[in-house]
Amino acid sequence: MKRIAVLTSGGDAPGMNAAIRSVVRKGHHHGLEVVGVRRGYNGLIQGDFIPMELGTVGDIIHRGGTVLYSARSEIFKTSEGQDKAVENLRKWKIDGLVVIGGDGSFRGAQKLTKRGFPAVGVPGTIDNDIPGTDFTIGFDTAVNTVIECIDRIRDTATSHERTYIVEVMGRNAGDIAVWAGLADGAESILIPEAPYQMNEIVDRLARGSKRGKKHSIIIVAEGVGSGVDIGRQIKEMTGAETRVTVLGHIQRGGSPTASDRVLASRMGAKAVDLLLEEQSDQMVAIRRNEVIGVDFDEAFGMKHQPDMSIYDLAEILAI
Ligand code: ADP
Repeated sequence: MKRIAVLTSGGDAPGMNAAIRSVVRKGHHHGLEVVGVRRGYNGLIQGDFIPMELGTVGDIIHRGGTVLYSARSEIFKTSEGQDKAVENLRKWKIDGLVVIGGDGSFRGAQKLTKRGFPAVGVPGTIDNDIPGTDFTIGFDTAVNTVIECIDRIRDTATSHERTYIVEVMGRNAGDIAVWAGLADGAESILIPEAPYQMNEIVDRLARGSKRGKKHSIIIVAEGVGSGVDIGRQIKEMTGAETRVTVLGHIQRGGSPTASDRVLASRMGAKAVDLLLEEQSDQMVAIRRNEVIGVDFDEAFGMKHQPDMSIYDLAEILAI
């Protein structure tokens, strides 16, 4: 192994830059040359490669987004696109590829390994929805962004004694809602993984108000449905004033937290180790604070679940 490449693909996440930096610097540490591929799999197909010297990743560890840009590539889903990608990697004399991205990006990486090209994945997505790893890069930052926003909403909620519904990201996974819900003492947390009854939510609001609660926060993961609809239903059922905030893409940006920078650095370095050990067709994962390699097939065969003990605790503490 003499030369490796790194790309970022799919939805971006804070900490991807720290992971790129780690791949580049760990690679150089082992005497490897490192090449950056811009705009995800589109860059592989178009040959958009740039040499990554040590200095190219200076001053990026604290930045959100990805300096290599990210993209979704329809053409890479075709077998011609995948053939072209391998052809370009070989033309550039690249011996292994690190793909930083989500589940979809890993399926793409596996297509390369099936063509005999070594590739490993590093899980980067704010949703934390990748099976096989306890945490993904960007999740901690997104949760911190959400709680910073909810803290502000809480101030105005108290002043006006209102119920606030906050819709957070998570189409398929309620992790952001669950963590932010516990961290922010939300009255109710609505996630795709757990059924909910509007009656119960309304009862809980009534109990809180009887006890003298000045405001209520309800967190809704986008996968459950629209926060606006939930707000309307609550207003109809209680007659109380509700306000809805959809946090949207602000959750994807911002400077990564210390946790995400450390996780990204550890995972990027592990990806280089895996390639050097001639392990391919794997993703890097963290389990019980140990950074390990997990076969793509093992991960693809698993189902992601948020940590429901956190969800249950949030319910208990919000009584
Ligand atoms: P994420 O990696 O964040 O889950 P996507 O699901 O959009 O994001 O995947 C990113 C890119 O990975 C896609 O645009 C496509 O180029 C590639 N990809 C996704 N699924 C496959 C697949 N089954 N086969 C080949 N490439 C895929």
